[in-house]
Amino acid sequence: MIDQILKDLFPLNRSLSGEDNRKTLAYLQNLIPLRVLEFPSGTSAFDWTIPPEWNCRGGWIRNSHGEKLIDFEESNLHIMSYSVPVHKTMSLEELKPHLHYLENLPEAIPYRTTYYKRNWGVCVTYNQFQEKFSAGDYEVFIDSELNERGSLVAGEILVPGKSKKEILISTYFCHPSLANDNLSGVVLTALLGRELMQRQNYYTYRILFLPETIGPIAYGSRNPEILKKAACALVVTTVGGPGKLGYKQCFDPKHRLNSLVEMALSKHEPDFITYPFDVHGSDERQYSSPGFRIPSVSITKDKYYEYPYYHTSLDNLDFVRPEALEKSYRAYLDLMDILEKDLVYQRVEPHGEVMLSKHGLYPDTGGALIPGRSSDEELDTLLNFLFEIDGNTSLVKIAEKLNIPVNDLSKLAATLNEAGILKEAEEEG
Ligand code: ZN
Repeated sequence: MIDQILKDLFPLNRSLSGEDNRKTLAYLQNLIPLRVLEFPSGTSAFDWTIPPEWNCRGGWIRNSHGEKLIDFEESNLHIMSYSVPVHKTMSLEELKPHLHYLENLPEAIPYRTTYYKRNWGVCVTYNQFQEKFSAGDYEVFIDSELNERGSLVAGEILVPGKSKKEILISTYFCHPSLANDNLSGVVLTALLGRELMQRQNYYTYRILFLPETIGPIAYGSRNPEILKKAACALVVTTVGGPGKLGYKQCFDPKHRLNSLVEMALSKHEPDFITYPFDVHGSDERQYSSPGFRIPSVSITKDKYYEYPYYHTSLDNLDFVRPEALEKSYRAYLDLMDILEKDLVYQRVEPHGEVMLSKHGLYPDTGGALIPGRSSDEELDTLLNFLFEIDGNTSLVKIAEKLNIPVNDLSKLAATLNEAGILKEAEEEG
C-alpha cells in the first residue's frame, strides 16, 4: 500500500499552490476525510502575503536546429517552481544565469524555487549542461501561469479524543517529484491519521497538510487560538531514507517531549541521531515562533539538509523505500502510544493514605492489579504509585521512577480512576 501511494503521488508537480496540489489532496481524501482549506492569493497572513496560484503546463529548451534539449515532460524539476512564463530565443550568455546545475552531483537535477521573486529558471544535470550547451542560440519556452485570483490549498482533519487538549500533526506537500523531502512525510501523515481515526484516543489530533512555511503562517493567521492551545506539534518530514532514525529536538532542550521521543526511538534505533533545535528547518519554525511557542519535534529518517540527494532528482523512489517509511511510521505510532499514556493524575483525596480495603483494592491475590506480580509486590507498587501521584508528575515519569512498564501503570491508573481514587489533573492555564 505504501508503495502504491508513493508511486501514485510522486509524479505530480506540487508547489506552494496549483492544480497538482489539489489533486494530491483529492487523492489523500481516499485515505482520510480531509477538509480542503483555501487561502486566497493576495490576502495577508501575519507578515506575509499569500502568493498567486502557480500552474505549469510544460516547458523546454531547443537549440538552433530545433532539437529539444530539456523537457518538463521528462522531469518536473527541470522548470524552477514559480517560474514566470517565457518564450524567447536567446544566446547562451543570456540563458546562463537562468540555468541551474550541480557540479558535485553531475547526474542530478537540482530543485529550485522562486516563490517570492518574479523570475524563471531551468534546472539541468551538470552532464546535460556540458554535453548540450555551447555557444549559439536557444529557444526557451515555459508555459506557466501566475494567477492573482487563485488560492493556496491545504488539508485539515480533526480526530476528536476524550480530552479537548490537542496534538498537532503537520506536514508539507509543496515539493514536486521528490520522495524523501517530502512525499514520505505526506504518506506517513496520511497513514497516521487513518490509524488514529480507528483508535479511542485521549488527545484530540489536528492533522494538517500545508505548503511549507506560508502554509502554517496562513493557517495560524486565520486560526491563532487553535494553534495556541496545541499541547505539542509533530512536524512530519523526511521519514523515508535509508539512513538512521533521528529527531530534531524541541526549542526547550529540557522539555518532556524530547524524552518521550527518545523513548519511542530507542525501540527502533538504539543509536538514533539527535539534532538539537535550531532556527533553520521546517514548519516548527512557525509553530515555535514567539507568538505560538508550541513545543515541536520531528522524527526523521535521513533528515532534510543531511543527505547528499537532498533537493535533487536523486531523492526519488530508489532512495525512498516503503520498508524505510514503514519503520518511521512504527516509531511515530510508538510515540503516539507514549504520548497517550503520558497523562497527569491527581488523587481525589490527597490527604493521608488511601483506605485500600474500603475500595476493595487491598491486594490479597497477586496479579489482579499488575500482571505477573505477587500480592506483596502489588501492594508495594500500589503504595508507591499513590505516593507519587501529585497532580504534576506524568505516568511516564512515575513508571520510570518505579521501574515498571508504562503500559502496566496506565492500566493500574485506569483501575484507580474507575474506583474514584484518581482523577485527571486539572488542565493547566
Ligand atoms: Zn525541502
